[in-house]
Amino acid sequence: MDLPSDISAGSTLEQAFVLNRLLATLSPTERTLLEPHAEIINCRSGEQLLTAGQVATRCLFPFDGLMISLKRVLAGGRSVEVAAIGREGALGGIVSCGQAAAFTHAVVQLPGPAAALPLTALEDAKRASPHLQNLFCRYSDALLSQVMQSVACNAFHPIEARAARWLLHAQDRAASDRLALTQESLAGLLGVQRTTVNAVARVLQEQGLIAYRRGAIQVTDRRGLHKVSCECYAAIEDHFHAILGPDGRGARP
Ligand SMILES: [Zn+2]
Repeated sequence: MDLPSDISAGSTLEQAFVLNRLLATLSPTERTLLEPHAEIINCRSGEQLLTAGQVATRCLFPFDGLMISLKRVLAGGRSVEVAAIGREGALGGIVSCGQAAAFTHAVVQLPGPAAALPLTALEDAKRASPHLQNLFCRYSDALLSQVMQSVACNAFHPIEARAARWLLHAQDRAASDRLALTQESLAGLLGVQRTTVNAVARVLQEQGLIAYRRGAIQVTDRRGLHKVSCECYAAIEDHFHAILGPDGRGARP
């Protein structure tokens, strides 16, 4: 199937739904449960989509380009990314089934489009569709696995490997080699000082893996970035694939 390469507000939902890995698993019947309630929106870089403590009233399904960080802020103001969401997932009351306040901030790191719909519509659709219900249970598992892997990663893996891993995840979600991200924001995501990220970025540049162009990070050697990355990138990707399978209905035995 030829996928539309440029989804923006105004694109049809039929075109857009296939660009989110969760929505792409829906049958035509299942889609009719969601489509009448959905609209395409564009999320801006730095936009705060959810604040910790806020009860979500809408859920977002990112398409290519959009990357949302879930950030936990500690006393004293320091924060770190605990998980990220892109075209493989969804945001807003997904894990809690809409019954609890968000535990983290949700901030747009890489701008892009998403399908937005009221959480009540999603919950109604889940009650009407066993596949939708199972899909979000399995996605919750995948999201939790990302958090668990990040705990291990942050405890033991060196910053170079963590930065390489983050860039690989970001490139997947951006569906582009160009990541509109400053070193300062990357430092905030990784929970380290900017000087630390500067040093890491210099090493990655000297190895020819990335380049800085017009305020953005350009991934110039993805294979090389894989070699520098810790095992956590592959662990998260493999688990996601095992849980959701190529068609989102679970891996075949
Ligand atoms: Zn790691």
